[in-house]
Amino acid sequence: MKYFYQKDSEEILSELETSNSGLSENEAKSRLEKNGLNKLPEAPRPSAFQIFLNQFKDLIVLILIVAAVISGFTGDHESSIVIIIVLIINAILGTTQTLNAQRSVDSLKQLSVPKVKVIRNGVKQEINSEQLTVGDIIEFEAGDMIVADARIIEASSLQVQESALTGESHAVDKTIETIEDEVVVGDQTNMVFTGSQVTYGKGRAVVTSIGVATEIGKISELLNKATTSKSPLQKSIDEFSKNLSIGIIALCIVVFGLTYISSKDFGGAAMFAIALAVAAVPEALASIITIVESLGSQTLAKENAIMKDINAVETLGSVSIIASDKTGTLTQNKMTVEDVYVNGKLLKPDELSLEDKASKMLMDTMVLTNDSFINGDQKVGDPTELALVELGRKYNIIEQDYRENYPRISELPFDSVRKFMSTLQIVNNEKVMLTKGATDELLKKCSHILLDGEVRDITKEDIDQILVQNYNFAEEGLRVLGYAFKVTDKEQLTFDDENNLTFVGLTSMIDPPRVESKDAVEKAIKAGIKPIMITGDHAITARSIARKIGIFQEGDMVIDGITLENMTDEELARDLEKISVYARVAPEHKIRIVNAWQAKGKIVGMSGDGVNDAPALKQADIGIAMGITGSEVSKDAADMILIDDNFATIVKAVTVGRNIFTNIKNAIKYLLTGNTGAIFVVIATTLLAFFDTKYVVPFAAIQLLFINLVTDSLPAIAIGTEPGTDEVLKQAPRNPKEPILTRSTFTAILIEAGLIAIAVFIGYYIGINTGEGYATTFAFLVLCLARLFNGFSCRSDLPLTKIGLFTNKNTIIAFLIGITLVSIIIFIPAISSIFKVMSLNGIQILTIVGLALAPTIVVQVIKIMKNR
Ligand code: ATP
Repeated sequence: MKYFYQKDSEEILSELETSNSGLSENEAKSRLEKNGLNKLPEAPRPSAFQIFLNQFKDLIVLILIVAAVISGFTGDHESSIVIIIVLIINAILGTTQTLNAQRSVDSLKQLSVPKVKVIRNGVKQEINSEQLTVGDIIEFEAGDMIVADARIIEASSLQVQESALTGESHAVDKTIETIEDEVVVGDQTNMVFTGSQVTYGKGRAVVTSIGVATEIGKISELLNKATTSKSPLQKSIDEFSKNLSIGIIALCIVVFGLTYISSKDFGGAAMFAIALAVAAVPEALASIITIVESLGSQTLAKENAIMKDINAVETLGSVSIIASDKTGTLTQNKMTVEDVYVNGKLLKPDELSLEDKASKMLMDTMVLTNDSFINGDQKVGDPTELALVELGRKYNIIEQDYRENYPRISELPFDSVRKFMSTLQIVNNEKVMLTKGATDELLKKCSHILLDGEVRDITKEDIDQILVQNYNFAEEGLRVLGYAFKVTDKEQLTFDDENNLTFVGLTSMIDPPRVESKDAVEKAIKAGIKPIMITGDHAITARSIARKIGIFQEGDMVIDGITLENMTDEELARDLEKISVYARVAPEHKIRIVNAWQAKGKIVGMSGDGVNDAPALKQADIGIAMGITGSEVSKDAADMILIDDNFATIVKAVTVGRNIFTNIKNAIKYLLTGNTGAIFVVIATTLLAFFDTKYVVPFAAIQLLFINLVTDSLPAIAIGTEPGTDEVLKQAPRNPKEPILTRSTFTAILIEAGLIAIAVFIGYYIGINTGEGYATTFAFLVLCLARLFNGFSCRSDLPLTKIGLFTNKNTIIAFLIGITLVSIIIFIPAISSIFKVMSLNGIQILTIVGLALAPTIVVQVIKIMKNR
């Protein structure tokens, strides 16, 4: 049997029943049905029922189950039933929340599925990689991910990095040559494999296997680790919860002992201690982070930022450096040629005469060393190249026809390190290498110049003159391209051919800044974030644009890649704060910039779109890829993808990130305040009971269960959905090392909990003097309502008068649900008796509501005064 790499392309195409123009849509569809989706199997997910069962694995829940059993044995069947109902409701809430969070992760994942270029019915189109099937013809170029195993049928300077498969980090050359012998994967030079990245050149291939049948699929168990790793915040809160729980359980044992000594009722004391444990341990703490982060990532997606890793949401808020590309991110990437410089003269784009030899050569290079095209309303390709095609159209040059007349026989594609590209074309029976690219780089390769129809040696004066023109263009923020050529007899180009070129001319292009950029830069700076520009473009062009949008301010430095290379780490560290623009950088320089900032303890968000940007994106705390123009490789490496490629979206995302963090903090604060309030009251009454037996236990076990498991989690989640404001941008970026609960947050929790405890205690005291059973009735209802009111206070550090009561509908809904449940308990006698609530008159109800509202009013007044 022969392997795919041992067969030539004809054989493969016929064996796979396909052709150069690809499968038909129908055939592709039926193969898709037969072969299934092109994806690796995912680790099995727990079913909804398993998730439901998992809710019972919690320590506190287990304690409660024991409590239900004890109650059953001691004859208190009512309590057992209620505990079980409460547990089930709690588990249902937990399950729906987990499922929602999962759903949102899935939908985000779907948004970041890699795209692939496929030929079907002879038409090139882009589809989701999952839709690819055996026999499909795919095309790829530098920056693309390979998403199936495929036999190469066309290759042009193709290089592929296959480390995912072979461990070899160097890119390997790929060709179409059939291999005779049997060889290992790493030596199958005419195949490409799922999981590899195209680092250079381009190619075309026929898909031979998909999904699990691919080489990576065969070893995919290794890759299929569950991706539910916990975030640093989640871990620290888990740790905090654990310690808190241990402390609370210890406290409960003490309370049990004391209650037993004063009441001599073992069952009652045990039940109360258990209930106290349940009331005091903030159950929802662990899940609140996941819920708020997954809700937050949906908000981010609406703002055009897709988080690939939900855990990165919390890092986003502490970003203090945003290093952004220029072209397309800060600018519109809508290029138009402004001027042409040829024969030593400056012309407008419509002033060329194609009779002139240099102008004709310039036009040939612009249109032929170019892969973009216009098709009706559709403009396909790199905006820089499209601008040149559009210029050609002014002279009635239809690029596709033109390219047929002057066929390309070889090429050296553009890359961001060389900064130019060359193609070998047949022009009037001559083989001509045409080169276009960055002027400064190109001039280094030029030995001649074409002036007024004559080619002669290029002089120092010529070069100076060209550089002055280049500088003048750049000063205006224009992007400059230089053009050169060489007649040759070569059939295939190599990099050594890019030498002894004849210089022809320059074009300048305008690429206006995005309208939002200036505002976004200003916002970022106000928020203590330093925006920096990192670009492959010329230093002067970059500075001009950076100045227009506010990134470059007087006194700042602009340095280029070479200067950066020559700087020592110490020098870079010294100047880092002053450098706002890095120009003519190569991708590897980006890593150095990230490292330098990180060494200063900064959290760096860095954008990148190219194939070589992946390492820098991985190194950055938040790697940011471009959804529209970004290479698949960069998207694969990033934490966040910008759907609109826009710098302003980065700033918005950081704002949302900060808001999410604040919301998590507030939700935690809400949970802890209420629980601490309850603990204060229990400690106070337990101690008082020693002096006077009228100080009965303040809450019935079942009441605490109700508060903590039913009415508590909804307001917490609602607080987590607080709509963001730009208020968070007034603060400096959060120090990522600082814990989420700072000393000042703890102080606030203690004060607010103290206020709630006082109100509850007053209610309790009134209850004691009202009659038997009223103490717990008052204490329970005041606590329950006070916590619901407190939900509004915990929305923000600002007073409600400032943020508005109705600006977060979810808190209103959560409040109304809570109030409804409490009303049911008060007004439906059958339920009242289960919850040990006595019947109340109007005055008593008003007293309870007044007491419950008081702590929130006090807190609000304090906030209003502070805000002044
Ligand atoms: P950024 O890094 O901000 O996106 P950029 O797009 O200018 O900036 P590169 O794409 O690396 O960065 O381009 C670097 C230089 O290479 C440009 O300034 C230009 O002179 C040249 N260049 C860009 N695109 C092409 C192209 N298609 N053909 C030839 N030269 C190009």
